[in-house]
Amino acid sequence: MLAPRVAIVGAGIGGLTLSLALRRHGIDSVVYERTTELREVGAAVALSANATRFYEGRLGLGDRFAAVWAEIPELVFRDGRSGEVVGRHYGGDSYRRRYGAPYAGVHRADLQAILSAAVGPESLQLGHTLTAVDDSGTEAILTFDDGSTAAADLVIGADGARSTVRRLVLGYDDALYSGCSGFRGIVDPSHLQSLPDPEAIQFWMGPEGHLLHYPIGSGAHNFLLVERGPAPWAHPTWTCPTTTEERMRRFAEWHPAVTEMVSAPEVGDRWALFHRPPLARWNHGRITLLGDAAHALVPHHGQGANQSIEDAIVLADQLAGGTDLDEARAAYEHLRRDRTRRVQYASITTADVLHLPDDSPLRPGRDARLGAPGLPDRHLDWIHGFVAG
Ligand SMILES: Cc1cc2nc3c(=O)[nH]c(=O)nc-3n(C[C@H](O)[C@H](O)[C@H](O)COP(=O)(O)OP(=O)(O)OC[C@H]3O[C@@H](n4cnc5c(N)ncnc54)[C@H](O)[C@@H]3O)c2cc1C
Repeated sequence: MLAPRVAIVGAGIGGLTLSLALRRHGIDSVVYERTTELREVGAAVALSANATRFYEGRLGLGDRFAAVWAEIPELVFRDGRSGEVVGRHYGGDSYRRRYGAPYAGVHRADLQAILSAAVGPESLQLGHTLTAVDDSGTEAILTFDDGSTAAADLVIGADGARSTVRRLVLGYDDALYSGCSGFRGIVDPSHLQSLPDPEAIQFWMGPEGHLLHYPIGSGAHNFLLVERGPAPWAHPTWTCPTTTEERMRRFAEWHPAVTEMVSAPEVGDRWALFHRPPLARWNHGRITLLGDAAHALVPHHGQGANQSIEDAIVLADQLAGGTDLDEARAAYEHLRRDRTRRVQYASITTADVLHLPDDSPLRPGRDARLGAPGLPDRHLDWIHGFVAG
């Protein structure tokens, strides 16, 4: 197979990882990115072993990541109001021993900086917002908002949860509001006087909401506070301004570690948590979807970025190993579709588990399962221990 001209739309986590993985196979690509500067501010991401194994291993970025991420040694579930520990897993370095790679919190700006530096400016076209793809001729023609165009043999839609490429191939917008919204923030440790187990990734659970937080490389903590509602989501965009009172409304009586954390940063937006229905086909003509554009999911398992990275590794391997472009893309779709569907499903149902009402007859069973030493074997190994390929 002649080296295809690959155009990747979106320099997010999936698009940059794909470009880099292709490069390692000797395949060049051009990444077209809407923003003029790669500078995700104000949020972090937790990467699990199913993704970090590739950054540390074959992509050769272990040293660079070690300088900016915080390895997370433990997973803790707590009652959101009393703070009582419901379950505690891994501990020490057993996560790394079990899965062969770390669980790590990293600021998105650091992640994007490492990936984009490795991809190199010659392969990045910033300030290019894709508006159309014409796939009717002998090559695909991409059109950008400034009127410029580019030709490619293969177009990868890695343009995130609000993907233009997905809308273009489907012909409609299929975003689904999950019924939950969230507030995110990054907090300096000096504000966290009451926080137990500051090294851990922790879920604080309660009726109608939960807090998830973990340390990132700078010593700060990234949090995502999720609450049920509002339903329906009435805003035209996926975020809307909020107030401190609104953010604290459901959580004022929660444990001081929770209230300290979520009231510390400046009030940001409320984020509606949207996802997208699984697709039967990820390949349409010369266009292939990857990451959130293919399978946007809610963040309750912290797997969106991790799944995008798995997609990128598998697609790069297939394109490098195949003799036919269409067969390689069909193999990619086949290898990724069921895996990402399972993770999407697990992500949406996790909210129900975390938000059980106080009087729910399911609570004793839930708490026993979350506390049982076998939790990783039954519920996490299939996600974190997975080796994409
Ligand atoms: C609150 C919250 C918390 C999360 N926490 C985690 C977590 O802890 N762990 C985890 O694994 N995942 C998490 N996720 C999910 C994760 O952020 C996404 O799944 C991940 O970023 C998807 O990667 P991607 O490359 O597909 O898309 P993105 O990273 O969103 O990148 C898409 C890129 O495409 C660009 N783009 C968009 N439209 C165009 C266009 N028309 N033309 C050109 N460029 C375009 C965008 O500017 C962007 O750079 C979280 C999500 C949310 C909302």
